Amino acid sequence: MICVLTGGTGGAKFVDGLSQVIPAEEITLIVNTGDDLLWWGLYVSPDIDSITYALSGMLSRERGWGVKGDTFLCLQAMGQLGEPTWFHTGDRDLAMHLLRSRLLAEGKTLSEATSTICEKLGVKARVLPMSDSRVETRVDTPSGELSFEEYFVQRWYQDPVNSVRFAGSSDAEPAPGVIEAILSADAVIIAPSNPITSIGPILSVPGILDALRSARGKVAAVSPIIGNAAVAGPAGILMTAQGLPCSIAGVAKAYEDFLDLLVCDTRDTRAAEALRQNGLQVQCAQTIMRTVDDRAALARTVLSHAISGLLSEQSPATEAASEKSAARTAVEQP
Ligand code: GDP
Repeated sequence: MICVLTGGTGGAKFVDGLSQVIPAEEITLIVNTGDDLLWWGLYVSPDIDSITYALSGMLSRERGWGVKGDTFLCLQAMGQLGEPTWFHTGDRDLAMHLLRSRLLAEGKTLSEATSTICEKLGVKARVLPMSDSRVETRVDTPSGELSFEEYFVQRWYQDPVNSVRFAGSSDAEPAPGVIEAILSADAVIIAPSNPITSIGPILSVPGILDALRSARGKVAAVSPIIGNAAVAGPAGILMTAQGLPCSIAGVAKAYEDFLDLLVCDTRDTRAAEALRQNGLQVQCAQTIMRTVDDRAALARTVLSHAISGLLSEQSPATEAASEKSAARTAVEQP
């Protein structure tokens, strides 16, 4: 079993690759819900949507979000009615938000609603929201506090950022299955997602950090940063605002409490060497996922370093994982 902590865009590409390499039934995804918003009265969970669409083959590869081939007639009609249109929801995409909102209104939890939707769309991987409680990413800017979607989509991440916080996290609990999935996984992979606003909210839910520290499998991360810039989006700006360098060293620092292995791009070979000298296992690979094959190749690389022998038949995943857990126990015992 492989457990992946993920956001929406970079994470969805990686998860798509992973599902080409191992059976989807062996994947559990723990998904950021800090970006969730009420839009036109509907509950939208952008990262759960992207992951669900990626795993059901519905994701628009050109846009990286929403449903492929979707139309935007409802968006136009809402504009004519004077409603806000800055957050783009396609017509087919709306079906997801309508069904989720109805299930929530009937008293289902976000986990239950997600599982029902995944089942209907034939998604075989387990998709878990990080929490069933509301945890909201808030971005503090000189113009005031913004939700993540206001900062990112409505205002094109142009505002200077003072800080980021996760409102509601201290009272939140991990969704059912989250802690067990981390603890029992043969490997935990942090997708190439924004460390601050995609992985940060997941880590802010009490209990998740401790579970990562106690995971029996290796915890591996794929860097969303190459050189001194994010592959896309505001990860670099937000890392700087949180006092982290925008580099693979910054990614390693963000995850230092639990990280065993960092996979970074071949362009960061020199920076990787410096991190190795600090004791971290670092592997360089081609990490830009332009094609479907790139996605699968990156997933294969991460798995092969996180669990030696997983993809060959000689040494089953479980064997490697138990070797690691035995090694950890040996280190812990005097
Ligand atoms: P969000 O919820 O839409 O912000 O999605 P994620 O957090 O999952 O993805 C955004 C992050 O993915 C950004 O920080 C990008 O730098 C990173 N990213 C996007 N595409 C790629 C890629 O092909 N390779 C790598 N290494 N990172 C990527």
